[in-house]
Amino acid sequence: EAKRAGRATWRFFEASMNAAAMRTLQIQNAMRAAFDEGYFSLRFQPKFRGTTNELVGAEALIRLHHPELGLLMPSEFIPTAERSGQIVQIGQWVVRETCRQIRHWQTMGLSSMKVAVNLSPRQIAQPDLVDTMIDIVRAEHVRCDQIIFEITEAVAMHDAQKTVEMIQAFQRAGFEIAIDDFGTGYSSLAYLERFRAKQLKIDRFFTSGLDAQGNESRAIVSAIIALAHSLNMEVVAEGVETQSQLTELQIMECDQMQGYLLGKPLTASAFGALLEEQLAS
Ligand code: C2E
Ligand code: MG
Ligand code: MG
Ligand code: MG
Repeated sequence: EAKRAGRATWRFFEASMNAAAMRTLQIQNAMRAAFDEGYFSLRFQPKFRGTTNELVGAEALIRLHHPELGLLMPSEFIPTAERSGQIVQIGQWVVRETCRQIRHWQTMGLSSMKVAVNLSPRQIAQPDLVDTMIDIVRAEHVRCDQIIFEITEAVAMHDAQKTVEMIQAFQRAGFEIAIDDFGTGYSSLAYLERFRAKQLKIDRFFTSGLDAQGNESRAIVSAIIALAHSLNMEVVAEGVETQSQLTELQIMECDQMQGYLLGKPLTASAFGALLEEQLAS
């Protein structure tokens, strides 16, 4: 009896392994064809000024439209792309596509839009990253100061001295830098000062913690905001989902807000409609 149950469990295990392996294989195949077939697209999640709810920009977030599996989130294909190295080409596409959208929104009369683009470890390891990004942005006739590059705290701290130099090169060209998912990595505060990033993005984990009982996340969030302000950085809260989180963050003088409460990641045309609404009001 036990033996039979064991065998059944094993068979189930094997079948689900196959399903997972199959899915990975399907995603890998789709990614090989993705540029030719136009499977990638961007969503733009609005970012708002802390106190006035004024729209100040967006974060570009990539999606993969799989012919059979449907719309895939980055967690399903970015790790694969990171391993294969395809992330480098994807990252260039993301910046080019973002620039095209920025130019389109400029024709609508919105010239001060800044859009954040995420960078992954493999991209940062490319010695010609900064030059490549400058070339792409210039070719698209967009100003470098309209692009913010986001680097996670963990990745930034991995080789902090190299990050300092890379950030300097980006900033010389006019790009802005944000330290993403802050609070989850292990920061050296000395390096945080030397990065001289424009923005610090508080990880969603702490934002959601604001709703919990007790004061732990509240203390951490207000400490992060104070730290960032003392280093002349703007603070962006990620993952704002409730009115009470928003209110607390406003009281703590958080500079910018991003989250489902205020706006989900939108298609380029839906984001354009939001911009038009903002212009009209
Ligand atoms: P991230 O840069 O920290 O982006 C924020 C993620 O949180 C996004 O997930 C966004 O949709 C989600 N989010 C925003 N507001 C809320 C909220 O209120 N509640 C909750 N639960 N989630 C919220 P997404 O789009 O799945 O992206 C996940 C990660 O994938 C990103 O984290 C980023 O690290 C990476 N990624 C996305 N696009 C790109 C890209 O173009 N290039 C690279 N290298 N990485 C990317
Ligand atoms: Mg980000
Ligand atoms: Mg983040
Ligand atoms: Mg995050």
